[in-house]
Amino acid sequence: MQHMAAKIIDGKALAAQVRATLKPAVEALAARGARPGLAAVVVGDNPASHIYLRNKVRACEETGVRSELHELPADVAEAAVLERIAALNGDARVHGILVQLPLPRGVNAERVLAAVSPAKDVDGFHAHNLGLLLRGTPRFVPCTPAGIMRLLEHAAVPLAGRHAVVIGRSSIVGKPLALLLLQNDATVTICHSKTAHLAALARQADVLVAAAGEPRLVGADMVKPGACVVDVGIHRGGDGKLVGDVDAAAVAQRAGWITPVPGGVGPMTVAMLVANTVRATELAIGQTAR
Ligand code: NAD
Repeated sequence: MQHMAAKIIDGKALAAQVRATLKPAVEALAARGARPGLAAVVVGDNPASHIYLRNKVRACEETGVRSELHELPADVAEAAVLERIAALNGDARVHGILVQLPLPRGVNAERVLAAVSPAKDVDGFHAHNLGLLLRGTPRFVPCTPAGIMRLLEHAAVPLAGRHAVVIGRSSIVGKPLALLLLQNDATVTICHSKTAHLAALARQADVLVAAAGEPRLVGADMVKPGACVVDVGIHRGGDGKLVGDVDAAAVAQRAGWITPVPGGVGPMTVAMLVANTVRATELAIGQTAR
């Protein structure tokens, strides 16, 4: 029997829905004199960074969140970056701070990320917030993993007792996502560039997440029929079109669900940033629940 094509999990539509739900919360905060504010720090002129930032600023505008862009030259001294972050930490109008990665050589990302106040760390990259996530009491969850969990929840993909295989172990995507899947009672395998028998492991997955940063790494031969395949990769192909870490055309014939690129994880990442900024504002004014 021919397998039905996979259900496409529409991240663009879900992100719009998330933003629409955040809007009244933003207005309620503004009415109390606390309009949420996000400060984005970008160092140098990496073109991809500027595209990502434009999307983030636009999403803020759409939801009524105030945003400010702090652009620093590529040859800036690390001390000046730290100084700027210290000023933002102390600015009551700024509830969320993000430092756009990658940072240029000469600016130490560890030190810069550690300088962001954990209470304003809306990217969830600070050791304090990663520790809370590890402990199972998260405050700010990194945006890409948070967005992926919302996509899975929205599509009602079963997780409890299922095998989730995450390809990629970065602190931004793979590792925090593995923790969230674990928290949702999945049995989790984390694969990486040194993993032996990647394809065999991937084929066991009920939920397969590709976050390796390698175009079309995951082919149909790596996917169990009916599995949910989440494509985190973003690459611009030679023809200018975006492709992910998954060979989407082939995998869609075999998977049960697939997230598209573009229009899957990307827009959800941005929506979660806005959600974290709203949450940071609520926490800052002592509002515990919405
Ligand atoms: P990274 O380079 O920090 O980490 C990549 C991970 O994949 C590493 O742990 C590495 O060991 C593993 N890996 C690399 N090649 C592999 C292979 N052939 N087999 C198995 N494992 C392999 O990348 P990252 O920051 O985690 O991002 C991963 C991808 O996701 C990139 O393409 C990035 O552009 C994309 N990304 C997308 C979003 C979004 O919003 N959609 C957000 C962040 C990152």
